Amino acid sequence: MDPILEVSGLNKRYGDFALKDISFCLPEGCITGFVGINGAGKTTTLRSILGLTNKVSGSIKFFGTDMDGNENKVKDRMGIVLDEGCFYDELTLSEMKNVIAPAYKNWCEQDFTEYLERFSLNPKQKINTLSKGMRMKYALALALSHKAELLIMDEPTNGLDPLVRSQLLNILKDYMAKGGKGVFFSTHITSDLEKIADMLIMIDDGQIVFQEEKDQLLDSCRIIKGSTEKLNPDTRKYFLTIEENAFGFTGITKQTSDVVEHMQDVLIERPTIEDIMLANAERRKKNVV
Ligand code: ATP
Repeated sequence: MDPILEVSGLNKRYGDFALKDISFCLPEGCITGFVGINGAGKTTTLRSILGLTNKVSGSIKFFGTDMDGNENKVKDRMGIVLDEGCFYDELTLSEMKNVIAPAYKNWCEQDFTEYLERFSLNPKQKINTLSKGMRMKYALALALSHKAELLIMDEPTNGLDPLVRSQLLNILKDYMAKGGKGVFFSTHITSDLEKIADMLIMIDDGQIVFQEEKDQLLDSCRIIKGSTEKLNPDTRKYFLTIEENAFGFTGITKQTSDVVEHMQDVLIERPTIEDIMLANAERRKKNVV
């Protein structure tokens, strides 16, 4: 699969916070989730790769083309949904669309009308009367109506109720099925990713912690529960993190075969993406890495 986005050696500083040598690659045909705890650097990374921040070093290639000097050409091929959604509140949905549409070479009025209908949005309604979920759907309708090949979204499910979130996930699946080449979206609602992501990238304190296929990642980790007597300096080394209380311990491991061999009578469970994300963040915080 050809990379649809290649980021290498991206550095960006905001006071005490810095993106440090961010490198990753999005293969074509994948929905990729970008995860990390609050303040990890998800929005800063997305804004930096989209050229919305200044003083960024590193190389960013979309569809094999350098972003530097080709911004307009590249952005024509992307649908972008950012958290704040910059709209003029006094305009109607239709009027705002008339402002935005001419910026895109491949704007498709029919797609836009269909998305508004699908999202039950009234083109005559004013933007300042939209609920948060409606605003997100409107931003998505705009992003999907110019034959974008890559959809980039910052926290699109944030603040949406479960019904709207589930509709959004179905739209993303349909988009890929219709020939979309990739979806890249940041979120800390990891349950959404369990449902649709193919690939996961985790960022923590401005650094990439892992990029892995979701199924592989979930298969490679296990939650282990047992009595604290099972823990000793050797067995503790099998775990990314361990929590202990009066009832025993809960740990996350990538060394399940060692645990099975050396720790009897423990409970082995499948982790969620959230378990893995938090274990990695905690481990890094404790500087065990
Ligand atoms: P969240 O999940 O809370 O949205 P995030 O992973 O998207 O978090 P960022 O918004 O990228 O995190 O923020 C990363 C760090 O960069 C934070 O410490 C934040 O305070 C800092 N930061 C972000 N934007 C700016 C800015 N314009 N000026 C100064 N610092 C900033």
